[in-house]
Amino acid sequence: MIGTAPRPAAQPGPPAAVESAMSGSTRPPPAPWPVDDVLVIGGGIAAYCAAIAAREAGAGVRLVDAAPAHLRGGNARHARNLRIAHATPSRLFPDRYPSDEFLDELCTASGGHGDAALARCLAEGSLDLPDWLAAQGVHFEEPARGTLPWSRKTAFLLGGGTAAINALAARAARLGVAIHQDTEALPLALDGPSPRRVSLRQDGRTLEARARTVCLCCGGYQANPDWLAETWGEAAPDLIVRGTPFASGAPLRALLAQGAASAGEPGACHLVAIDARSPAADGGIVTRVDGMPWGLVVDRNARRFHDEGAEISPRRYSTWGRLVARCPGQRAFLILDAEGRTRTTPSIYPAIEAETIADLAAALGLDPAVLTATVADYNRAVQQAGAGAEHTLGLAPPKSRFAQPLAAPPFAAYPMAPGITGTSHGLRVDPQARVLRTDGRTCPDLFAAGAIMAPAILGTGYLAGTGLTIGAVFGRIAGTQAARHARTGH
Ligand SMILES: Cc1cc2nc3c(=O)[nH]c(=O)nc-3n(C[C@H](O)[C@H](O)[C@H](O)COP(=O)(O)OP(=O)(O)OC[C@H]3O[C@@H](n4cnc5c(N)ncnc54)[C@H](O)[C@@H]3O)c2cc1C
Repeated sequence: MIGTAPRPAAQPGPPAAVESAMSGSTRPPPAPWPVDDVLVIGGGIAAYCAAIAAREAGAGVRLVDAAPAHLRGGNARHARNLRIAHATPSRLFPDRYPSDEFLDELCTASGGHGDAALARCLAEGSLDLPDWLAAQGVHFEEPARGTLPWSRKTAFLLGGGTAAINALAARAARLGVAIHQDTEALPLALDGPSPRRVSLRQDGRTLEARARTVCLCCGGYQANPDWLAETWGEAAPDLIVRGTPFASGAPLRALLAQGAASAGEPGACHLVAIDARSPAADGGIVTRVDGMPWGLVVDRNARRFHDEGAEISPRRYSTWGRLVARCPGQRAFLILDAEGRTRTTPSIYPAIEAETIADLAAALGLDPAVLTATVADYNRAVQQAGAGAEHTLGLAPPKSRFAQPLAAPPFAAYPMAPGITGTSHGLRVDPQARVLRTDGRTCPDLFAAGAIMAPAILGTGYLAGTGLTIGAVFGRIAGTQAARHARTGH
């Protein structure tokens, strides 16, 4: 049991109890780890917030992350801002953003499928989050002081998510959290005697951790094409992972199979249209493709399939991600002329350019005759609508806004693929972040925070800036409650 005064967890070192029979290693087995109060599985924002909160509550804490040290931080490395409720203007925010407004927006985003009690925990838990994170060493950008955009509703991290993760990891280490990178938690039991035994894979060996409580902060399964293929079929490998390649979902899958209650829907995910030349993982936000209203979008048959003028809100990224995912071969192409390019946010990848539409088609591997006809049909439909109309007439699908002829060379194109941000299928938890079972009972020593339980709040929807906030707010709750359970046994 944990004492009242904080005491350091066992330091990372050659751990572990069980030498893998598979490894064939001749090294002597290292000394077993002591029983920890809290084992945190994961190494993103949820994991670090859980570890720090548990440690601040006096628990001995061990954190295991599948990623190597240089890739620690999960998807938070790519993130920029958190959604924060606030009652009055402050150094970080102009105006006010009441928690009830946050709640209403969560309800809209989830289509009413989110857990109302968890949504309230999130909105109210966000109120003091900037102060808590600042106390851990995280810095925020003040409105209109830096290069990032700002809003009444979200706080931007100074130096981005990587700087925030570095600060949290340093703080956790200073507090005495034992941190193990390159250490993957294997599927674990939903129930079991206390202390729990969790098998880990590290350096080719299978080890065992023992802990009075476990915090599951290991994200979704967007980097597991085999699991995604159960819903997405042969399209699954074409979904490019925008963030961490370590989101395999192995613990999540095992727990769901044993009767943990699920939230969201199998295979549901947040998708964004990204450049098809992006790396297989960790491309981050710079690979997004924007500018569809200023051009045409065609599939690999060189035919249009959606109104490019329909969506200009921030939702446009996910709208186009879903649309591209439904295209043949999960590929589409944004076609611009010289005029359209001046209105489009520059991409990290160079545009593919040509003097004629036919040459552009050839460079993209599209049928030149079909693409030429597609553009000609579109240009005719713009002219038929009349000067200044900025929409098409007699074209299917129409372009309802910002329609200008594609006429000024050089022409340019961006190949697009669906980029997967995260999955929307996870665990249900109660307001203390305890994992729920399908029979309604809670698992008293098993807690979950972050993307692994976000679908319990968001359903299959998304609201900008909530990914980090869910990780931080529920990480704090999970860590605090896990420490309490380790101390009191209930
Ligand atoms: C490109 C991009 C931009 C984003 N921008 C924003 C933004 O601006 N604002 C926002 O709010 N959200 C944003 N998000 C979403 C946000 O980053 C995530 O919702 C949030 O970081 C999830 O945190 P997490 O700790 O729950 O999980 P993750 O960040 O997914 O971390 C999971 C961790 O678990 C580890 N892990 C996985 N399996 C195991 C295992 N079996 N054993 C041990 N460790 C394991 C991984 O290595 C990783 O460290 C963005 C996401 C992406 C991809």
